[in-house]
Amino acid sequence: MSLATALVAIAPLACSPGADAASASLEAGRWTGEVEAPGALHPIGVEYEVARSGTTRESGAIAVRSLDFAGLPPAPGRHVSWDGRTLRFRWQPQRAERTCVLERQDGGALVGICGAEGVDDWRMRMLPPAREAEPTGLAIQAIARGEWQREASALAMVYAPRADTGRVDVRELARRVEQARAHDLALLEAENVARTLHVFVIPNREAMRELLGRPSGGYADPMSGTVVLTDHGRSTGVMRHEIMHVLSMHAWGPPAAPSEWLREGIATWAAGDCQRANFHAIAAHMLQRGRLLPLDELFGNWFAHPDLITYLQAASLVEWLQSTHPGALRAAWRDGLPALSTATGGTLPELERNWLEYVRDTPPIDDALWQQMDDEGCG
Ligand SMILES: [Zn+2]
Repeated sequence: MSLATALVAIAPLACSPGADAASASLEAGRWTGEVEAPGALHPIGVEYEVARSGTTRESGAIAVRSLDFAGLPPAPGRHVSWDGRTLRFRWQPQRAERTCVLERQDGGALVGICGAEGVDDWRMRMLPPAREAEPTGLAIQAIARGEWQREASALAMVYAPRADTGRVDVRELARRVEQARAHDLALLEAENVARTLHVFVIPNREAMRELLGRPSGGYADPMSGTVVLTDHGRSTGVMRHEIMHVLSMHAWGPPAAPSEWLREGIATWAAGDCQRANFHAIAAHMLQRGRLLPLDELFGNWFAHPDLITYLQAASLVEWLQSTHPGALRAAWRDGLPALSTATGGTLPELERNWLEYVRDTPPIDDALWQQMDDEGCG
């Protein structure tokens, strides 16, 4: 039986009193998800409280308890409704109060739009808490688009194209995925996360374009635990980077805004180095050549600058923070820049001065190596 058929079979039929009976098909607990605003993807978490019996319509058969994203959670009760197919609630993530209408999909996820008059629509996806081992979302799509040989390990499933049998050792890959997972969890100081990784290993960017519609070198979808690696997964750095995107989100929860410097900084740091150079030596080169961004700019205007600069600068900052102020990364992840200030015991300009002082004392990489990174990435 396919997953979709199984879910349809267990979904309760709507009966009187409608709201209570239907709400039983929404799992209580922590859902994960994303809001896609134009030009930006924000991971979010949410807790639905689902009453299974004895609740009147007025007190609410379902309450959205929290929506971890800068802003107010939806008011429980009156503003939240669920009829077995459609979840509606009002939510104020920024200035405008939005009305969110999410439809249940075959896999159990909720997908829809959060809109308000005069502002761009946001697309929201939510994934139920009980699906951590099964392929969902992007993993289901990727499985359907290819013929795969598979190898399962304790907490991961590795997929390589059947056409690559003989060229790719999936057993060996599964072992390396487990190692990368353990490596990244140690950096996060997390014991484990329940989310099973679904790691797809494909030949090149063209295959990535065919699979996902984007020709990137690596890709991670934290919500479904899906990781896609090009070059047959040969680069341990890229593997650690993409797996870190999944693990950080599940171990630490959704990050506070602005989160790009932290998400990419931690993932790039997890790779270990770039073309065998350490991140502080790279930052020292950027400082020398006038390429380093003011931290305000790195935090607040991430997308205005080349990836090579933002990713590598963020990795140096993240690595320095972890070695000088243990706990600061996690505080910043959870509560944003004010928490970063508190955790480092000073203002952000002070933190910037201290980090720059450290970078200034580090011997820089040379221009040729920088050029190589610009041409080939971190390798
Ligand atoms: Zn990344």
